[in-house]
Amino acid sequence: MYPWLSPLLNQYALQHQQSRLHHAHLLHGAQGTGKRALAQSICEALLCEQPLNMQPCGECKGCKLNGAGTHPDLLVLSEEGSSIGVDAIRSVSDFIVHSAQQGGAKCVIVPNAHRMTVAASNALLKTLEEPNNHCYLWLLTDNISSLPATILSRCAKQQVSVADTSELNQWLSDNVGEAKAYHFAHMYHTQPLLLKSWQDNGELAQIQALYDAVYNDQMNTDEQKLVDILAQNSQYIAIFRLFMSQFLLQKSYQGLAYEQLTRCHAHLQHFSEHLVQTPGLNMTLALSQLMRGLKQELG
Ligand SMILES: [Zn+2]
Repeated sequence: MYPWLSPLLNQYALQHQQSRLHHAHLLHGAQGTGKRALAQSICEALLCEQPLNMQPCGECKGCKLNGAGTHPDLLVLSEEGSSIGVDAIRSVSDFIVHSAQQGGAKCVIVPNAHRMTVAASNALLKTLEEPNNHCYLWLLTDNISSLPATILSRCAKQQVSVADTSELNQWLSDNVGEAKAYHFAHMYHTQPLLLKSWQDNGELAQIQALYDAVYNDQMNTDEQKLVDILAQNSQYIAIFRLFMSQFLLQKSYQGLAYEQLTRCHAHLQHFSEHLVQTPGLNMTLALSQLMRGLKQELG
């Protein structure tokens, strides 16, 4: 288990030991903090025949099935897709009403719960209103504000965050040494698993190029090169926006007027919202409009 998750794991172990583990949980927090790993680990312990302090034994039939990724009493919805529809949530309700095949607990993990459609949320609500003994539901989200209040009020909410400790730094050195060497990495060091996925997927140089475009080239960057990178992955638009926001914040410390800063942010918001909402939008045009707008303000 990741070291920063141990306190939460202990907290859940205590709740379980005292038979007060809620049946519906919402783990929320930034991307790359380990929400999925935490939920998975707790579910594996709940499905283990002889867990010790919320740690699966690794030996029993339940653990063997989990090790093979084929435990019939664990349902994990797909992380892919831009939305979670009512059919996926019905599969959760159907899964929950049937008794556990191995005779123990049943667990469901719903990653990206904020992607549920309104109909899906309503379907889930019915399930949440009829709690089933020994059935545990884990909703995960990095965007809690997009979840309806009706869902939030029925879940035990827990924020998963990563504290900046020497333990974390040690983990980063041991696991994402390559990523740590990049300048942009300091902005993501409390999202360690995001850094790890970028390192594993060979994306570090691309993200550094986005950072350089903002910080080194200022507003005189090679726009086509930037468009080529942004077009590769929709996540890069959010990363670019974060770098830009931080850059503007720095400019405001250096004396950029509040009104100018507000207008810059409006340009940036307009740019990223349009790109996310209108996938076919001409990105080259949108980016050059953004750059022109920012240049006007920043001089
Ligand atoms: Zn076990």
